[in-house]
Amino acid sequence: MSSVYNWQLGREMAYPYEGAAPKEQFAFVININRCIGCQTCTMACKSTWTFAKGQEHMWWTNVETKPYGGYPQHWDVKILDRLEQANPGGQQWSGKPNGDPKKPYGEFGGKTVFEVPQAVARGTQPNQVLGYLPTDEEWRFPNIYEDTAPHGQSKPMDFGKGESIDGDRKHRAWFYYLARLCNHCSYPACLAACPRTAIYKRPEDGIVLIDQKECRGYRKCVEACPYKKSLYRGTTRTSEKCIACYPRVEGKDPETNGAPMETRCMAACIGQVRMQGLVKVDNDTTWVEDRYNPLYYLIHVAKVALPLYPQFGTEPNGYYIPPRWVPLPYLRQMFGPGVDQAVERYRNPDRELLAVLQLFRRSNQIIARYEIEQGPKVYEATRNGKRFEMYDDTIRAFNRQGKEIFETQVEEPVHVRPAVHANSI
Ligand code: SF4
Ligand code: SF4
Ligand code: SF4
Repeated sequence: MSSVYNWQLGREMAYPYEGAAPKEQFAFVININRCIGCQTCTMACKSTWTFAKGQEHMWWTNVETKPYGGYPQHWDVKILDRLEQANPGGQQWSGKPNGDPKKPYGEFGGKTVFEVPQAVARGTQPNQVLGYLPTDEEWRFPNIYEDTAPHGQSKPMDFGKGESIDGDRKHRAWFYYLARLCNHCSYPACLAACPRTAIYKRPEDGIVLIDQKECRGYRKCVEACPYKKSLYRGTTRTSEKCIACYPRVEGKDPETNGAPMETRCMAACIGQVRMQGLVKVDNDTTWVEDRYNPLYYLIHVAKVALPLYPQFGTEPNGYYIPPRWVPLPYLRQMFGPGVDQAVERYRNPDRELLAVLQLFRRSNQIIARYEIEQGPKVYEATRNGKRFEMYDDTIRAFNRQGKEIFETQVEEPVHVRPAVHANSI
């Protein structure tokens, strides 16, 4: 095992290979607060990449209803449970979220999927990564228990007890949609576990791919990925996973004239909750400051978007703006100790955050940089005991070539339909 730096954990971590950071890293932010569970993203991926024989059960991206839903069923509960068994009571964070980009969420003192003793990881067989192979039945439904909410008094999973965001606990029954795809992790567990080194991380953009010629379908990646985003295909006897729509990211789609383009699942999102990008990373995978890259801003400046289960240790590059109506203990387990601050910021956005949130899904191109031009104040009020002011700022987005892609306003423009067309569509 080598020692690599995992900034999401705020410490060095054991990993089977030496660290090798890509030039840029594929990453994305999903705003859970606005996802409507329409599955347009799910179907966009399916109809592009997984419509063939043997792929019927494959949903490279899926949207599941939390807390009960999961694809495969129970994926997160099972891996959390195995980690807890391996390190009883030790899966804890110390320190506080802070401004240090090398440990923004404090330090994780527990064990990752790479660090638990091998005997615990796999019974008697030695293995590099703690994991498990889901049963065939567990892959059956991409969104089982759709829209099922735990009530505040329900048993045994009474997530409604304890702390609540709203203090008055008006949201005692809750659920939310968690849209998921491969996180193109900085330290992929799938790659670590592959005995044929058939999985690789591209040096140019950090996209993680399975070489179909090398794969022999041992399913070690399926077993090891804590997010269960590598899947086995019986007809080819190989494993497959999200390919991050790499031809689009490379700018090969004629629509963008060579400029990097967002993936299918991002571009298809009608809820306008997904934003994908490329970020610059240092040798130790910490992010190089790029203040006006919208992903850098949301994750490292506003700190409103957080990694999914950072404690697994793969340094996932998928980030989420947590849902503001969900009990905090549940969210802390899923997104780490930065949750309190992230929810608070999202509930009371400042001027810049409000402007950056307008960038979601206005273009198919990847936004490399934004600029804000200040406009007049259009609204003020006291909300949640705090002063809130809204300005009609203009925000401009630029692609990697420095070309302006679009501009938009914080206040949505109102278009009045001429009376002659009042009832027409
Ligand atoms: S999410 Fe899973 S499949 Fe994707 S890179 Fe990470 S470990 Fe591999
Ligand atoms: S990035 Fe592309 S391949 Fe990956 S889940 Fe989204 S649509 Fe599917
Ligand atoms: S398309 Fe967007 S809004 Fe619809 S389920 Fe997917 S992420 Fe949510």
